[in-house]
Amino acid sequence: MKIILLGPPGAGKGTQAALLMEKYSIPQVSTGDMLRAAVQAQSPMGIEAKKHMNAGGLVPDNVVIGIVRERLQEDDCQEGFILDGFPRTRPQADSLKQVLVELGKKLDAVISLQVDTDALVERLTGRRTCSDCGKGFHLRFDPPAEDGSCRYCGGKLNQRDDDREETIRNRMKVYQQQTAPLEDYYRQEGLLVAVDGMSDIAAVQQAILVALQGR
Ligand code: ADP
Ligand code: AMP
Repeated sequence: MKIILLGPPGAGKGTQAALLMEKYSIPQVSTGDMLRAAVQAQSPMGIEAKKHMNAGGLVPDNVVIGIVRERLQEDDCQEGFILDGFPRTRPQADSLKQVLVELGKKLDAVISLQVDTDALVERLTGRRTCSDCGKGFHLRFDPPAEDGSCRYCGGKLNQRDDDREETIRNRMKVYQQQTAPLEDYYRQEGLLVAVDGMSDIAAVQQAILVALQGR
């Protein structure tokens, strides 16, 4: 299965990608996670990316396209993958198309998660991530252990630097301007499947699995 998860920040892409990864035994390819790893490692790319990420803007297309191109050639992506947070611009979508032609692969579906803006802000401000195992939580909707630690490994939970309200507003604006047009792009390719992302995590997962049936 080769899938793109499309949707604004906080729509539930990472949450659903982790569930799909288990279900189909294919990797989640999250450009956000890869960029955060580069920031953490303080690589030259990470140092450059951090400025854009902390301001809620997009990292330049050529950087992101380069990391995805390399990642999709790795062994574990040969049977399928879940793209989470990529593409985010028209040039990224065009480059992905070209890379897939080169690799002789075809997308099965682009799942577009539909979530209201108010719900997105609430999801992002309550999002926490385990600093040890990387699992995601929400203070209200997917709560951590009672002592505030990770339910899986007991690790310390962190809030992302870009999940503060001022940055969130900018990320939403950038999504509307640069990423939302990709819905039309993939609709024209016959790949777009809109899924209601407003219900709880399990119900959204079920709706995605139904949408993927027969694809
Ligand atoms: P994205 O990857 O699209 O930015 P996430 O998957 O990280 O979004 O989800 C953002 C936050 O919302 C997380 O804290 C997650 O636990 C929570 N969340 C995800 N899906 C739902 C849902 N269907 N209902 C309520 N909260 C959700
Ligand atoms: P995410 O984890 O998907 O919310 O991404 C966090 C941040 O990483 C974004 O706000 C961007 O700054 C950057 N980023 C992630 N994916 C991309 C992408 N495909 N193109 C450009 N920037 C990206």
